[in-house]
Amino acid sequence: MSTTTSPELSPARTAVSGARRLFDSGATRPPAARVGQLRALRAMLTENEPAFEAALWSDLHKSGGEAQLTEIGVTLAEINHTLRHLRRWARPRRGPVPASLRPARARLVSEPLGVVLVIAPWNYPVQLLLDPLAGVLAAGNTAVLKPSELAPATSALVARLVPRYFPDGAVRVVEGGVPETTELLAQRFDHIVFTGSGTVGRVVMRAAAEHLTPVTLELGGKSPVWFDDDARLRQAARRIAWAKFTNAGQTCVAPDYVMTTPDRVPALVDALKDAVADLWGADPRTGRDYGRIVNERQFDRLVGLLEGTDVVVGGDHDRAERYIAPTVVLVPSGGERPAVGPDAAHPVLREEIFGPVLPVVAVESAEEAVRVVNGWDKPLALYVFSSSARTRRLFEQHTSSGAVAHGAGLVHVAATGLPFGGVGASGMGAYHGVHSWRAFSHLKPVLRKPLAPDTLRLVQPPFTGLGLRL
Ligand code: NAD
Repeated sequence: MSTTTSPELSPARTAVSGARRLFDSGATRPPAARVGQLRALRAMLTENEPAFEAALWSDLHKSGGEAQLTEIGVTLAEINHTLRHLRRWARPRRGPVPASLRPARARLVSEPLGVVLVIAPWNYPVQLLLDPLAGVLAAGNTAVLKPSELAPATSALVARLVPRYFPDGAVRVVEGGVPETTELLAQRFDHIVFTGSGTVGRVVMRAAAEHLTPVTLELGGKSPVWFDDDARLRQAARRIAWAKFTNAGQTCVAPDYVMTTPDRVPALVDALKDAVADLWGADPRTGRDYGRIVNERQFDRLVGLLEGTDVVVGGDHDRAERYIAPTVVLVPSGGERPAVGPDAAHPVLREEIFGPVLPVVAVESAEEAVRVVNGWDKPLALYVFSSSARTRRLFEQHTSSGAVAHGAGLVHVAATGLPFGGVGASGMGAYHGVHSWRAFSHLKPVLRKPLAPDTLRLVQPPFTGLGLRL
């Protein structure tokens, strides 16, 4: 946290100027240095796994298994994938030169951008901070990390470990909330990766515009699900429930609501109920594997969303423990108003839920569901559980979203090498694997043309009226 009133000595300024000095020295550019930084990042995670697990338990009641799967393991997989492919990505490539410019040669050379700011949210406080960092370091940049103040144990752990594993200062941590982030954003960066809400995303983009700093914005939204796969109802319900209620629904790509036809609603609700019992037991509160809501503010917001709904699964909650059971709701139709969207009758169908409340929404057909999706902001993910290839194509070709997954939720994020990012209101830019490399490097064309023969003479005045075309 900021402890000083002197702007020159504030942690934000110190971190940025230190990271810039190191970048300007060129020390982070050589391939061996990049590999060294990635290995240091991997060692920081593997040598402190119990401490990371404890921090995630303290911040979010994440079990060891879930912490490994969704935070530590996925980040290690990203680091290992990057280490495996880094040299190939870094190799300069031959660029095309049209006949009219020959003789000449062109190469495409990737260069680092400089100092990159990574601002992370609280819901996956390890993965969403360190996964982008792997790409930032691989590309030869230095980094300033701003973990979320709402995951304080993870934030403190990262702040304690980073100086130990990056003694040269290639990675620096600034802890804190709005004032500290505001001060950071007043500094000049060469790229900013922000993961969080659209509201703060706009703040970040405005601040970045002052310095013409490019941004990657990883935002949220309401990710829809379509279900009509009657033959695989139980399997589909289990996957929908798992994707929704992991981390107590606090996942940017969690299914936000499920659409199906009215006749399928009762069977789907029953199957979701069974799936929840299978996965987290009759009373998820007593198991180690079910998470908690991050704070009381979010707890109150989520409980408020239940008002006026018909709770058909779960619904019990306890403020002292910040526990909300995996909950499925039906929402009375709002008459002529749209089923879901900015004008829907109930807030649970208007706002990003970001918690363990899953509305099942009856719509007449898949075509109607497509109209619902297209009626407002483009979501971060769209999930389709359908045995019909025509229906799968319908969603793929007639909607727009950060990603589409058929038959599974969440897992596309773990497919290292696929770009992860939103579109429209769910974000801009993407990262993971080679896409991180592209996002955090500048692809610089380098053209070399011999002075002789002097073919450029042909395009220089005085023009001879030969009608030369390039
Ligand atoms: P948030 O936008 O409130 O906070 C994100 C970060 O911004 C935090 O580090 C916070 O300290 C900082 N911040 C907050 N207010 C600020 C301000 N006024 N000025 C400057 N910085 C500020 O988001 P959150 O509550 O931590 O996370 C939830 C949101 O993030 C949801 O909308 C979710 O969908 C989205 N999300 C997206 C992804 C993705 O990969 N696309 C992943 C996780 C979460």
